[in-house]
Amino acid sequence: MKKLLGLIAAGFFSLVLAEAADKPAPKPQAACPVSGKPINKDVYVDYQGQRIYFCCPACPDQFRKDPEKYFAQFEKDNIELENIQKVCLVSGEELGEHGEASVIHYKGRTVKFCCPACEKPFRAEPEKYLNQMPGEQQSKYQSKRT
Ligand SMILES: [Zn+2]
Ligand SMILES: [Zn+2]
Repeated sequence: MKKLLGLIAAGFFSLVLAEAADKPAPKPQAACPVSGKPINKDVYVDYQGQRIYFCCPACPDQFRKDPEKYFAQFEKDNIELENIQKVCLVSGEELGEHGEASVIHYKGRTVKFCCPACEKPFRAEPEKYLNQMPGEQQSKYQSKRT
């Protein structure tokens, strides 16, 4: 009987491990998305609620030329960007006021909500809510460029 329990436990743990290997926890940003060099915490851009760090002041302009390309890379590399939101995009409530904020990852962004119920309206219209995130926005950059 003891042996059987041991086998069950071993099976259970290998299942848990396999699942963990499939979906590793996201890592904090350590490398400049443009150059791949280590980040300098003094050089960053706040873009759509994300604080993105770079290695040197020359790199943010590269990022601004095509942010989606770099966000796709963050997503692929499983990087969790630093989030600078203070309020829930959906309810407008201060984050953390009613317990721990709910966090999701969307197209390379880290997005926070006051509660899991607020994720649903976001998932219905993500672009609308991303445009309300603090920091620089795609549209602003595009109008600057033209
Ligand atoms: Zn650089
Ligand atoms: Zn909420």
